[in-house]
Amino acid sequence: MSVFGRRLVERQPDPAGRRWLFVPYDQVTDAIGPLSREEPRRLGVVIIEAPWKPARRPYHKQKLALILANLRHFALEQAARGVAVRHVVANGPYRSALERLAHDLGPLRAMEPAERELRADLQSLVDAGGLEIIPHEGWLTTAEQFRASQPGGPPWRMDAFYRAVRRATGILMRSGKPEGGKFSFDVANRLPWAGEPTAPSPPSFAPDPVTEEVGQLVERRFAQHPGCLDLTALPATAADAEALWCWAKRACLPAFGPYEDAMSARSSGLFHTRISALLNINRLLPARVVGEVARMNLPLQSREGFIRQVLGWREFVRHVHRETDGFRRLPGGPSPIAPGPGDGGYRRWAGKPWTRDVRAGDPDGGAAPSALGGDAGLPPAFWGVPSGLACLDRVVAGVWREGYSHHITRLMVLANVAALLDVSPRELTDWFWAAYTDAYDWVVEPNVLGMGTFAVGDLMSTKPYISGAAYIDRMSDFCEECAFDPTRTCPITPLYWAFLARHERRLRGTPRLGIALQAVMRRDPGRRRSDRALFLRVRERLLAGESLTPESLSAGRGRPAHWKAGDR
Ligand SMILES: Cc1cc2nc3c(=O)[nH]c(=O)nc-3n(C[C@H](O)[C@H](O)[C@H](O)COP(=O)(O)OP(=O)(O)OC[C@H]3O[C@@H](n4cnc5c(N)ncnc54)[C@H](O)[C@@H]3O)c2cc1C
Ligand code: SF4
Repeated sequence: MSVFGRRLVERQPDPAGRRWLFVPYDQVTDAIGPLSREEPRRLGVVIIEAPWKPARRPYHKQKLALILANLRHFALEQAARGVAVRHVVANGPYRSALERLAHDLGPLRAMEPAERELRADLQSLVDAGGLEIIPHEGWLTTAEQFRASQPGGPPWRMDAFYRAVRRATGILMRSGKPEGGKFSFDVANRLPWAGEPTAPSPPSFAPDPVTEEVGQLVERRFAQHPGCLDLTALPATAADAEALWCWAKRACLPAFGPYEDAMSARSSGLFHTRISALLNINRLLPARVVGEVARMNLPLQSREGFIRQVLGWREFVRHVHRETDGFRRLPGGPSPIAPGPGDGGYRRWAGKPWTRDVRAGDPDGGAAPSALGGDAGLPPAFWGVPSGLACLDRVVAGVWREGYSHHITRLMVLANVAALLDVSPRELTDWFWAAYTDAYDWVVEPNVLGMGTFAVGDLMSTKPYISGAAYIDRMSDFCEECAFDPTRTCPITPLYWAFLARHERRLRGTPRLGIALQAVMRRDPGRRRSDRALFLRVRERLLAGESLTPESLSAGRGRPAHWKAGDR
């Protein structure tokens, strides 16, 4: 028997006379819902490990270990407080396992899953009366609040939502006015980081035998999954979550605001808190982190900056996802839907398809809008093949090492490069979903489809978040270690011009982009032609897994011999 199995048997109370609650992989908390108020000796939790789920996409090993270790420790924590635990390793989707358990245990309940994909998996069981869905109490705002904050309907804007929520909750408000006289200190939070103050090192955790066992299971059973597994970087227990949050408050938040947009090769997180993976499985609760930060003795720009992310952005993206049914229903009409989960470019990198266990009734692969028509594949550089672009290579290496990078590297390096190459927004979303430990459909889809790629037009952001090398050079130290010169040879700037020229017609009239669009149309036609030629050359070479150099790009060689027809 496994260490986990033995410990569970040792702690397991008598399961008779219980009301059973299904606890999905991302609800590992007893601070909300029935677990927070019903008597432990009358409650039982159903914990399911379904290898079918991780097999759907090439998820990072660290993500699999994080979820599994937290789920198992949560089961042990509940058994220790007298809650009965039914732990099942299922062969197939959650709905099949729960159907069998409902026969055994009687009617089951579950807090509404955050992931649409899990809701879709469970729907037939809910319809058949085998599972009762009760509200998820982990969210801070309601759909009604969201709608009331946007009286004109879509397009939706985070600022209006955030202001309404601040007013409704009274958070960072004084006598009906925002603390400091403004709702947002965003403009003050754009300093680059030159090494001072020292960036904190993330905490490490001592893996116990249960976590060690999860690590071995992941290495054995999910050996084909990408990414490094580092159990010492993995918060697995309720106590680990406390330790991470204490570190975030002490070491990160004092400097969080001013350096929020900075990027550095010397620190993948800088002063960001790294709590997203734990917030998204509810190990840490948003109400708690927002409440504590609001009361902390910190510069207002840091308190407000953090609270805007959790109370504002995190809630906002979730509402947009719900309102659009995961971007299936858009104001301009329905989106195309990917029939099955995408591999995020895995095949192109690994040279073999990602195999998964497909069953009738499985959830689809998500909405695939592409307002600008991007449909190219994601280059193998996103899987770790060196591209020669130091910013991209640095961030990608960090992602496969840690399953994490902070917001600006996601937006202004990864999504920026992919958008400039007209990569399929769906393929990029699937890559983010697989690669990051905090990715779930409700949060990754809005951030990539809505923010990172402008795939749903101006539905939730006023303009595409794209930039040339000047922004990356100003906000990071990546260019210092790059073979390209950001002011002369870097291809990202011509890619930016080529993007604007290519999409000028569709982007015309986009607020905040007018000057850039006018500038590109004033650009000398010869330079516009060479921007486009460079775009085609860079994309072709990156798709072929080649590394770029200033020499090879300026030489403008023809198509590489190993470029495959059909690869875009
Ligand atoms: C292309 C792209 C993809 C992203 N994919 C994800 C994802 O899969 N999962 C995810 O949780 N976040 C995602 N984000 C949002 C954001 O980048 C991460 O939440 C953040 O970087 C997590 O690191 P942190 O905990 O150190 O955050 P901090 O900077 O310390 O922020 C605190 C918290 O605010 C919340 N937050 C901040 N911005 C957002 C946002 N835009 N959307 C939702 N929550 C936010 C997170 O819960 C985060 O933990 C994505 C952003 C972009 C641009
Ligand atoms: S020079 Fe260009 S490619 Fe190199 S790090 Fe800077 S922005 Fe990135």
